[in-house]
Amino acid sequence: MKREQSIETTCVQGGYTPGNGEPRQVPIIQSTTFKYATSEDMGKLFDLEASGYFYSRLQNPTCDTVAAKICALEGGSAAMLLSSGQAANFFAVFNIATVGDHVISSSSIYGGTYNLFAVTMKKMGIDFTFVSPDCTEEELSAAFRPNTKAVFGETIANPALTVLDIEKFAKAAHAHGVPLIVDNTFATPVNCRPFEFGADIVTHSTTKYMDGHGTAIGGCIVDSGKFDWMAHKEKFPGLCTPDNSYHGITYAEKFGMGGAYITKATAQLMRDFGCTQSPQSAFYLNLGLESLHVRMERHCLNAQKVAEYLESNDKIGWVTYPGLPSDKYYATAQKYMPKGTCGVVSFGVKGGRKAAEKFMKALKLIAIETHVADARSCCLHPASATHRQMNEEELIAAGISGDLVRLSCGIENYEDLIADIAQALDTL
Ligand SMILES: *Cc1c(COP(=O)(O)O)cnc(C)c1O
Repeated sequence: MKREQSIETTCVQGGYTPGNGEPRQVPIIQSTTFKYATSEDMGKLFDLEASGYFYSRLQNPTCDTVAAKICALEGGSAAMLLSSGQAANFFAVFNIATVGDHVISSSSIYGGTYNLFAVTMKKMGIDFTFVSPDCTEEELSAAFRPNTKAVFGETIANPALTVLDIEKFAKAAHAHGVPLIVDNTFATPVNCRPFEFGADIVTHSTTKYMDGHGTAIGGCIVDSGKFDWMAHKEKFPGLCTPDNSYHGITYAEKFGMGGAYITKATAQLMRDFGCTQSPQSAFYLNLGLESLHVRMERHCLNAQKVAEYLESNDKIGWVTYPGLPSDKYYATAQKYMPKGTCGVVSFGVKGGRKAAEKFMKALKLIAIETHVADARSCCLHPASATHRQMNEEELIAAGISGDLVRLSCGIENYEDLIADIAQALDTL
């Protein structure tokens, strides 16, 4: 019987198997273009009749190798790298929704994604309905319209740390003939593989744990290959009717369930928007992926210890960490990610916004950064940084309060992190 390779081994060796005498490490193909002997050869590539590289805005071998590793980690059928997590979420939705369409999203999502959906994509004529991640099945069902094209959520929301009931959202999406898109940035495939619970498309900001060292901005989209576009032909004309900008190709017919979505996103959206990841960045990303499974375990251990310490400290008003048995999402997290959740802990310092700012100023080891999921611990005050575009009501819907500190536990020794927090709390 064929044994399925463990995710740890895929982190290290997935996506790239060098032949005899070839480089052991993934080569950086730092080339914008590729040479061919005849125009006919090149024509076949342009018509998507043959596969091969011709221009790195569309595809590059280094990027494809790293995308193949992430695809294997998620258990998908096809994947592509992009210039950022923002580009990944934009492409993931825009690939199937256009002017006049509607998308349902969890209200508890990353601030940048919220802005992308509620402001920028709204200007493009796509309407979004934001639903609470805790909504009932009836409430979720009531949000659908005849023109709804997708449902979106985050496995673990940044920074509110709500855990998505993936099966509930997938069931509702499928009952209405549309796919569920899950941003799996915080959990990573090491801790959760959303496809196993019914998600159809997964996105990542690879800038976070996958890179893990604060080195390169990047994004990724993975398709499960399980959504039957042709069964809902009328909803997805972009995939199920001929693309005149690509010589009349019908993606869902030519590339099937496993390849249609990523091929369309590459051939159409990447061609026209050019949100490419550079081969150099993809190389850095791959170095991060090689230790992802080792780092996630330590991020989770550190966050667990820090969360337990904070919970026992009387200068702290509240702590949110899905690994704490007292957490609202503990049971959901245990179901979807029994190995651990992520390294990010949110908490409120007693005394509100002022106290939170004073506490953060006193930290020595833990730096203030607009970043999470780095090997080095860092923290942020979302209400005055990432989520500052939101009004009070929107902040509440996104689960952000004025006293909220988002602490991203790195992979240092947790006793040092706790000591730093303790000395900063002493100044209050
Ligand atoms: C950071 C982040 C993004 C945006 O990614 P960038 O790489 O910064 O563009 C999207 N989703 C989540 C959950 C994030 O944490």
